[in-house]
Amino acid sequence: MSTAPTESTHPATAAPGWDARVAGSPQAELAVSGHGRFARPDYRQLAIDVIEGRKLTADEALMLLRTPNEDLLALLDAAFLVRREYFGLSVQLYFLMNAKSGLCPEDCNYCSQSKVSSAPVPKYNILQRDKLLAAAELAARRQAKTYCLVISARGPNEREMKAVEEIVPEIKAKYGLDICACLGLLTAEQARRLKACGVDRVNHNLNTSEEYYAKICSTHTHADRVQTLHHVRDAGLELCSGGIVGMGETQADVVSMAMQLRELRTESIPVNFLNSIDGTPLQKTSDLTPQDCLRTLAMFRMVNPTSELRISGGRELHLRTLQPLGLYPANSVFVGDYLTTEGQPPEEDYRMIRDLGFEVTGSAPDPGVSTALPVGTSSCGGGGCGQNSCGN
Ligand code: SF4
Repeated sequence: MSTAPTESTHPATAAPGWDARVAGSPQAELAVSGHGRFARPDYRQLAIDVIEGRKLTADEALMLLRTPNEDLLALLDAAFLVRREYFGLSVQLYFLMNAKSGLCPEDCNYCSQSKVSSAPVPKYNILQRDKLLAAAELAARRQAKTYCLVISARGPNEREMKAVEEIVPEIKAKYGLDICACLGLLTAEQARRLKACGVDRVNHNLNTSEEYYAKICSTHTHADRVQTLHHVRDAGLELCSGGIVGMGETQADVVSMAMQLRELRTESIPVNFLNSIDGTPLQKTSDLTPQDCLRTLAMFRMVNPTSELRISGGRELHLRTLQPLGLYPANSVFVGDYLTTEGQPPEEDYRMIRDLGFEVTGSAPDPGVSTALPVGTSSCGGGGCGQNSCGN
């Protein structure tokens, strides 16, 4: 194994935005000690090490997050080596359904549905069976592998639990979709009931590091979230858990979250880039660049090599024209809209995947099939927080 830096003649350029806070970073220090010559790690060797089973340290992960823009392609090449090892050229599509919007008593600062948000979001209780089924049909037509059923809540009440228990077997029998439920904090008993009715996976995001959590929410704790993840695991369900980047946290916070997700053996990691929504406490806070997003995805891939990695909320907003590059480290995207904000049309996602030479997991897209929303149905419900899940 070799992680010894090799020298290049590149100047050590600090990337703008999020990355501009890296003064004093290992990269910057190497540049200074190298008499103005930038010292670069051997990204490919790091990838080989990861494939051979070595776990990256937090310092190494931080170094990846601080990769200068001129070395970004080398970093993406390394992340792609790892992605290809475990996921080939496949892309998994997910479909979000905001089954209950607004009305949340929690105070998550990034969320337009929180009690401290003045953002104008639709408010409705859990949708009726026909709407949930119509959305499942759309998810199947869009070739989604997984239907993500999301409600805005601290945790599900009995009525919501019963609605989920009723609809999940029906969706699975009719459309063969995997089901990921995002219902908030769960008791051990609720997790067992979800498993029993056929839910495959539960989404419950860590959102950020343990250290930073109190800065974004006061009505529940990071420990509450971790406890729910343990209940989910104990019930025999798969874990979907990720976070939101760009909420004012440090890069060390992002690394801390990635390492914790590795410890939890998280099967699926959604990475959101904050979509700062007017009316939320975090409005106008995100200063991410497309390069920051790519560095983040690459770091998550290298730290969590076998986890499904999904580019989630904020993909179009922050990656912009560099979106396709995100699929070199990541192997999954949402097709369609997010909870509160619109995604790009599904046809553009299919085209992007085809142009990359990648392929959607499962059957080939049927170009003759309409991917328009059925009347009276919205894949995002128009509400939500702009991220991939309510994060609850
Ligand atoms: S993220 Fe979820 S729990 Fe937090 S305020 Fe929004 S809907 Fe409620």
